[in-house]
Amino acid sequence: MTYTSLQSPDNRDYNYELNMAHLYGNLMNTYGDNGNVLMLKYVAEKLGAKMTIDILSIGDNFDTDHYDLVFFGGGQDYEQSIVAKDLPSKREAIANYINQDKVILAICGGFQLLGQYYVQANGVRIDGIGVMDHYTLNQENNRFIGDIKIHNAEFNETYYGFENHQGRTFLSDDEKPLGNVVYGNGNNKEDGSEGVHYKNVYGSYFHGPILSRNVNLAYRLVTTALKNKYGQELNLPAYKDILAKEVAEEYADVKSKAEFEK
Ligand code: GLN
Repeated sequence: MTYTSLQSPDNRDYNYELNMAHLYGNLMNTYGDNGNVLMLKYVAEKLGAKMTIDILSIGDNFDTDHYDLVFFGGGQDYEQSIVAKDLPSKREAIANYINQDKVILAICGGFQLLGQYYVQANGVRIDGIGVMDHYTLNQENNRFIGDIKIHNAEFNETYYGFENHQGRTFLSDDEKPLGNVVYGNGNNKEDGSEGVHYKNVYGSYFHGPILSRNVNLAYRLVTTALKNKYGQELNLPAYKDILAKEVAEEYADVKSKAEFEK
């Protein structure tokens, strides 16, 4: 049964409303990925949007028209294999959602399951839903674990994170990476790519969670969702006016100013 896990407080004035589907939030949540949901809600509220977050899990219907944002977190192989059995029932709705340029953030296991297939650590292949064309191979007795930094040339933005995955993902020709690896392993340690950016789907192996360290990406996701819903001409506060100061303060003790501004 779909249930609302979080909602912005009622006692404020909002200009907008956003509905988020948290896919399999009860099964897919490794290394604090659920923190991404809190970040999206935080940024949405800063932008004057009231956010309602529903957990959609096994047997639940995904209503393409109702949702403006989707979050799909990471999971262990066991949970992924359970989710993989239910996902085909939502395949058409998720494909329509993506084709309408709506926003998804998918981390690790979620990112893998949107693709063609994923090979578990034990060598068993699980089918993804194939709404995107990447695929994920396994590796022998190894995981990619550690700090990672990537750069997205299109947005000229840098993202920082912590990766922890055994899967090695390979993108298709029509998929761009979320960024190119500056240091760390990325999707597969071979081609320098990390994550995916396809239409308005953003995928990544960053845990920790990704959006708490990369508020610029959270801003991008929420403003894209708002413009999709309320019109591309929507006039929204600039990132630097509502969030940059907090990020600068948060990072002041761990990074030099020059590094932050890169
Ligand atoms: N089980 C997958 C892997 O190891 C995903 C792990 C995760 O979501 N952290 O690649």
